[in-house]
Amino acid sequence: MRHVGANKRKKSISGGLAKLVLSSVLILAGMGQAAASGEAATGAASASNAAGRTPAFKGRAYYESRGEAVWEIPVEGKAIALTFDDGPDPVDTPAILDLLGQYGARATFFITGKKAEQYPGIVRREALEGHEVANHTYTHRMLLHCTDAQIRGEISMAQKSIAMAAGAMPVLFRPPEGFFNSRVLSVGREEGLMTVLWSWHHATDDWARPGVGHIVKGILNDVRGGDIVLLHDYVSGRTQTIDALRVILPKLAEEGYSFVTVSELLRAKNSKTNLVNR
Ligand SMILES: [Zn+2]
Repeated sequence: MRHVGANKRKKSISGGLAKLVLSSVLILAGMGQAAASGEAATGAASASNAAGRTPAFKGRAYYESRGEAVWEIPVEGKAIALTFDDGPDPVDTPAILDLLGQYGARATFFITGKKAEQYPGIVRREALEGHEVANHTYTHRMLLHCTDAQIRGEISMAQKSIAMAAGAMPVLFRPPEGFFNSRVLSVGREEGLMTVLWSWHHATDDWARPGVGHIVKGILNDVRGGDIVLLHDYVSGRTQTIDALRVILPKLAEEGYSFVTVSELLRAKNSKTNLVNR
């Protein structure tokens, strides 16, 4: 979700509107088969190319119903998955891990391979403390217009770097910015990964540092068991995510929620296990 390049960062600052416009342009141009981004989060299920030159746009419902990607994983009981993208960050990630530890909360970290090579000790710590380490490509490259070979390279290089650091091979993948198409999904699948997006009703926008209150509200909005909350353990500038976590972790714990990994949600759904009071 969060943008890495300087140009992209400028684009982020103008917020969801720019993103929405960008998504619309992609869709109108028939360039994106299934682009779903955080703030835009349109799914745009009805968008199709009027000229009929490209395949009809396939939205969330199509891929979700086929089990090719997940946005949330409805389960019995009060368990949700906090996910953190784009790390590790040498300062913020350890602080987040400390905080999660205080509440016995587990989370899923979508890591770029390059940063796993830079900060292998933090990736190792994530795994050792019971969190899930997951694949977010090697360089945080946008994959929509990449060739299959380029997609495979980004995913497999990240797999190797993360596995080397964590001692465990990721089984989950989140494409940068949430942009994907059927090729991205199939290459991911061939590499043994399930593609994981996030619950659109939790618009935290924490990458844009919109204020702690905004992030808190985004997380607390209509919480349901099996939700997947998108957050970032690396942001450009001073993070507000940690202060938001200080509010939401005790609040949701008090309401009886537990914080589990995405794979735990998937297992609970498949085995119909109730995750309450784990
Ligand atoms: Zn990202």
